[in-house]
Amino acid sequence: MNRQDLLKLADKYQSPLYVYDTEKIISQYKKITSAFSKVKNVKINYAVKALSNINILKVFNKLNSGLDTVSIQEVKLGLLAGFEPHEIIYTPNGVSLQEIEEVAKLGVQINIDNLSILELFGQKHPKIPVCIRINPHVMAGGNSKISVGHIDSKFGISIHQVPHIKRVVENTGMHINGIHMHTGSDILDIDTFIRATEILFDVARQFKNIDFIDFGSGFKVPYKKDDISTDINELGKKLSTRFNEFCKNYGKEVTLMFEPGKFLVSEAGYFLAKVNVIKQTTSTVFAGIDSGLNHLIRPMFYNSYHYIENLSNPKGRERFYSIVGYICENDTFGSNRRINEISEDDILCFHNAGAYCFSMASNYNSRFRPAEVMIYKGKDYLIRKRETMEDILKNQESVTL
Ligand SMILES: *Cc1c(COP(=O)(O)O)cnc(C)c1O
Repeated sequence: MNRQDLLKLADKYQSPLYVYDTEKIISQYKKITSAFSKVKNVKINYAVKALSNINILKVFNKLNSGLDTVSIQEVKLGLLAGFEPHEIIYTPNGVSLQEIEEVAKLGVQINIDNLSILELFGQKHPKIPVCIRINPHVMAGGNSKISVGHIDSKFGISIHQVPHIKRVVENTGMHINGIHMHTGSDILDIDTFIRATEILFDVARQFKNIDFIDFGSGFKVPYKKDDISTDINELGKKLSTRFNEFCKNYGKEVTLMFEPGKFLVSEAGYFLAKVNVIKQTTSTVFAGIDSGLNHLIRPMFYNSYHYIENLSNPKGRERFYSIVGYICENDTFGSNRRINEISEDDILCFHNAGAYCFSMASNYNSRFRPAEVMIYKGKDYLIRKRETMEDILKNQESVTL
């Protein structure tokens, strides 16, 4: 999106503001599907947790995407957005058997990631087919907080426990209809990823009648100019060949699935915030904005990089700044950033603000969460109002003391 359009939106809807360009979402979706065009059955399930506004889900519904969900609330959002239950896969971790049963009752595909629940579920509902989440113990992912496929991870059923899975299946008569893995975010080494897929093929072969193999996600997107990212075409080429071979040997055209979040929405998002104060200290120049870790926690939570530009003064002399929030914690968005000279009231733009930004926002410091705007076919739509004092008080009971 260009600078002028973003500035107009900041003026129209005020700050802080999230803006999502659905054209980018659509082009990213098409990038994946075309990379796997040589595979007969491909299904992309958008990972709702990245950005869960119902209007964004509707865009994915129009694209014929499915959904990957991790809570019953996300499942319900998906149904409200118009998805059929069978287009939704539910991949929870550490949730109760009761919640899994509730989701199964809705007709959604269940993906189970531990043996104890598999056994309980199989005994009670042997007729409901389930997918199993395998932990292939392959180290992928950009850092330890987002890498979930390694041996110490709480996710998935260990590859070494496949014999136990088979015993549960035999004893309960349940049907395994899919095999799944999700190794973590920020995959760069295609060959490491392919190694994990080989492990998954080995597991899949041990079950008689699966319908799909779900390779999870973890595609890395660029965060700055010339940044490296997952080479989706190379992955498409290598994995498609292997997948088609697998289907041939297996004797069935199973569906290849992915469930990306970040890859589909990260670059589509822009976060706009206004500069409240410039503060020169002995060590740096701070630009303090009308936002903080309550609205965008990724830099503080896992050191994520968000490119920051000054929309209001694009030709200004570049200077070094630390961009900080207004929250009473250390909430630094970026240090030593070279940015066109910043004055109070300038609008700063944070890039890659589509994934895990609004969806992680909170009311910390009793601040309102920002408004969200979606650009669809050239028009801007307010898809979430800015909060008010009523929202802050909504569920608080007023006790007379
Ligand atoms: C979070 C998550 C994803 C999406 O990961 P991205 O890195 O955003 O693509 C996919 N599958 C599962 C099970 C997840 O928990």
